[in-house]
Amino acid sequence: MPHTPTVQILGAAGTVTGSKHLLDAGSHRVLLDCGLFQGLKPLRLRNWAAPPLDVHRLDAVVLSHAHLDHTGYLPALVKHGFKGPIYCTAATADLARILLPDSAHLQEEAAARANRRGYSKHRPALPLYTVADAEAALERLTPRLYHRPFEAAPGVEITYRYAGHILGSATVTATFDGKTAATLAFSGDLGRWNQPVLPDPEFISQADVLLLESTYGDRIHAADPEAELARVVRETAERGGVLIIPAFAVGRTQEILWHLKRLEDHQAIPRLPVYLDSPMAIDVTDLYRRHADEHDTQMRRALAAGDHPLTPSQLTLAHTPEESKAINALSGPIIIVSASGMATGGRVLHHLARRLPERRTTVLLVGFQAAGTRGRSLQEGAKTVRMFGQDVPVRARIETLDGLSAHADREEILRWLHGFEQPPTETVLVHGEAGAAARLADTIHRTLGWSVHAARDSERVPIGPGRRRS
Ligand code: ZN
Repeated sequence: MPHTPTVQILGAAGTVTGSKHLLDAGSHRVLLDCGLFQGLKPLRLRNWAAPPLDVHRLDAVVLSHAHLDHTGYLPALVKHGFKGPIYCTAATADLARILLPDSAHLQEEAAARANRRGYSKHRPALPLYTVADAEAALERLTPRLYHRPFEAAPGVEITYRYAGHILGSATVTATFDGKTAATLAFSGDLGRWNQPVLPDPEFISQADVLLLESTYGDRIHAADPEAELARVVRETAERGGVLIIPAFAVGRTQEILWHLKRLEDHQAIPRLPVYLDSPMAIDVTDLYRRHADEHDTQMRRALAAGDHPLTPSQLTLAHTPEESKAINALSGPIIIVSASGMATGGRVLHHLARRLPERRTTVLLVGFQAAGTRGRSLQEGAKTVRMFGQDVPVRARIETLDGLSAHADREEILRWLHGFEQPPTETVLVHGEAGAAARLADTIHRTLGWSVHAARDSERVPIGPGRRRS
């Protein structure tokens, strides 16, 4: 009797981090994504447990995209002895070459800090992984093209399609053993239609089991973030102030640059000096420009016309720490785009420390601000924030821009599900907080009548042509 393939949920069940899904085809095994748990401590501690699978029996890893909650455990997996290929798209490989060594560097710094202050139980405290581990993981990266099926392990054929989430992002279909052709589809992180630069998410027409992300499965994104951005920029210009935009280096920064350029072209905002102050964001923006294979028609047309859609007219790149510090001497109106997006670290901190006490400053929060971060404190109206060992008074105006998101909302997820010609036998919701996943399950069941449930940690789901509803 042939083995029924299964998928086991090893992360991102009831949470948005730690994506790891083990495909087991009997004699061969493939891991879909290899993400780091992030956020609250009980989650982060899971990164330190033994790998939740037999590393030596794993044939390959297949990545959906480069975000660390999907790739950040790779150096640990390699450190534990994984020696197989890590398949991904070409742009994902390029992004991973920036993100994984940076993640390792942060792990090393955290361990060094713990040793200096003596607050770790372990002496010496060791990093989860080192830059050398990250380099070893990068050597295993094996780029593959979109739309060209490839064998990740004997009897396991993988196809990538555009997910429209970040550069290089893909949905994954895995087909087992040719003729019986059981198929699993994995949304990865699903992007949105009509977004800057990236192609729209592509539909998938058939799957026996669907692993579907549910991050914003219970929400609808605000309609017109660009108009809001224009208002904030105009007001900054009128007041002669400084606009600080803390932004994630991958995706959000490029989106902001694209909107600023477009608003300038439409004369909806004045042409202000824009400082991009994050070495990682500068490198990633360069990748966004270079990966023509990923561009949507709008981006392609603009480039063909000799336009630079990610380059506002007065853009300055701050590469060195000195160039970054020099921005402190400037007076407004100027715009500073800098990481990190939740003001938990990075160069944006010294800009905030310098400018928050000034009434003419505006801070524009353009992404999700997690509980416990400085970004969240600012959003909630804190009168002071602690930075560099000091309480910095907040006199600046704090604004939040809703509606910029790299994730599909409830309606966009449903739109994507309509691409399936018949319902999958089972749909499993991953990558969402428990409430969001439960509400999306309810919506899918009510509107489409599909069999669907929120993933449970470690559950194993058989993949095979089952009894279908008609
Ligand atoms: Zn992502």
